Amino acid sequence: MKNYIPFLFLLTLLISVGCEEQEKAELTEEEQRELALEIHKRVLTVDTHADTPLRMIEPGFDMSVRHDPKETGSKVDYPRMKEGDLDAIFFAAFVAQDIRDDDGHSRAKALCLQMIDSIVASTSRNSDIVGLALNPEDAYALEDEGKRAIYIGIENGYPIGNDLSNVELYYNKGVRYITLVHSSNNDIADSATDSEGPEHGGLSTFGEEVVKEMNRLGIMVDVSHGNDSLFYDTVKLSKAPIIASHSNARSVTDHRRNMTDEMLKLMADNGGVVQLTMLADYLREAPPNVERDSAMAALRANMKPIGEMTDEERDALRQAFRDINEKYPAPPATVEHVVDHIDHIVKVAGIDHVGIGCDFDGGGGIQGVFDASEVMNITIELVKRGYSEEQIEKIWGGNLIRVFKEVQAYAKENAQS
Ligand SMILES: [Zn+2]
Repeated sequence: MKNYIPFLFLLTLLISVGCEEQEKAELTEEEQRELALEIHKRVLTVDTHADTPLRMIEPGFDMSVRHDPKETGSKVDYPRMKEGDLDAIFFAAFVAQDIRDDDGHSRAKALCLQMIDSIVASTSRNSDIVGLALNPEDAYALEDEGKRAIYIGIENGYPIGNDLSNVELYYNKGVRYITLVHSSNNDIADSATDSEGPEHGGLSTFGEEVVKEMNRLGIMVDVSHGNDSLFYDTVKLSKAPIIASHSNARSVTDHRRNMTDEMLKLMADNGGVVQLTMLADYLREAPPNVERDSAMAALRANMKPIGEMTDEERDALRQAFRDINEKYPAPPATVEHVVDHIDHIVKVAGIDHVGIGCDFDGGGGIQGVFDASEVMNITIELVKRGYSEEQIEKIWGGNLIRVFKEVQAYAKENAQS
C-alpha cells in the first residue's frame, strides 16, 4: 500500500492542476483581464530598475505630480506608480562613464550623492504616499500602509572610483544594489558594450574587492551591463546570490546585453534572479535601418554628459530623440515579447529566477508598458499564458525579495563570525 500513496497523491495533483487550467482556459478575455488585475493588486510588485533620479535632480521636477509621458518623456512619478499598482521600485543613481582619474571620480561621486540625496528628500517630502525602504520587509510593511516603497540602487560602479571605502559610504546612505559597470569599462569591471573591448578580462582585482565588500555589507551585486566574463567572474566569486537588475534572454533576442542560456542556468545554481527589462532592442530584433541609426549616432556623438546640460539643452535633446523616433520609427516591442523572454527564462532557469526591472527613464518603455501606469499589462499577459498567482507573485517581487534577504543574511552571519 505504501507505494501507492505517492502515486495517488500525484494523480490527485494532476487532476486538480488539470481542472485549474481548464477553468482558466474557459475564462473569457474580459474575465482573464479581471482576474489578472486582482492578482496584480494582491501580489507585491517590484521594479528593480528606474533611472528616475536623473529627473529628480532637475529643478522643479515634482514626483508627486502626474506627468504626461508623451509630452514630457517622463515614465515614473508617484501618481503613475499608484495607477499601475507598482508597489516598490529601485531608483538607480546613474552616473554615465567619464574620465577615469581623480577628478572624474570625485565628480562622479558628487553627482551620485546628489541623486541619492534627491531620492531621500523626495521620499520625506512625500511621506504620506511613499516611504524610503532599506530592508526586504519594508516593501511589505509600506504596501500594508498603502504607500509605495522606494529603494535606492546605483547604476555604474564608477562613483566608487578606486576607493573601497565608498562602498560602505553608499550603503550607509541607503544603497542596496550596485550595477558594477555601465556602457564602458571602469576600474571595477568590463562592460558588454565598450567600443574598445574588454580590459580586465571581467572583474578587475579592485572589482573583486568591491564584490567582497558588497557581500560583507549586504548590497546586492548587479551584473547587468557587464560583459560575459564579468558575469562568470562574479557568479563564481560572490558568496551571496547576485542579480541582473535589467537584462533579457540572448537566445530569444541576440544582444550582448542579454544573457545566454548557460548564464541563465548558472544564475539558477547561484540562487540569483534576472530582472526582465522593457528596452525594445533587448526584446526583439529590428531590421537594420541605416537612416535611423546614423541620425541616432550623430545625435549621440554631439551629446554632452546629461549632468552638465542646462534645462533647455536637456529638453532639446529629448525632443531630438523623439523627432528621430517619429521620422524613422522602429518596429514596436510589445508585452508579448516581454513574456516570450519570461517563458524562456522559466524554461531554462526555472520560475524562481526571473523578475521585472523596467528601466523606465533610462530608455525602457514599450507598446503596452509605456510607463509605470501600465505595468499591469504584463500581469494580464502572464495570466493569458496560464501563469498561476503563485508564479506571478514570484516574478513580480517574491524572487527578488528572496535574493535580497539572502544577501542580507550572508552579511549578518559574516558580521557575527
Ligand atoms: Zn542600464
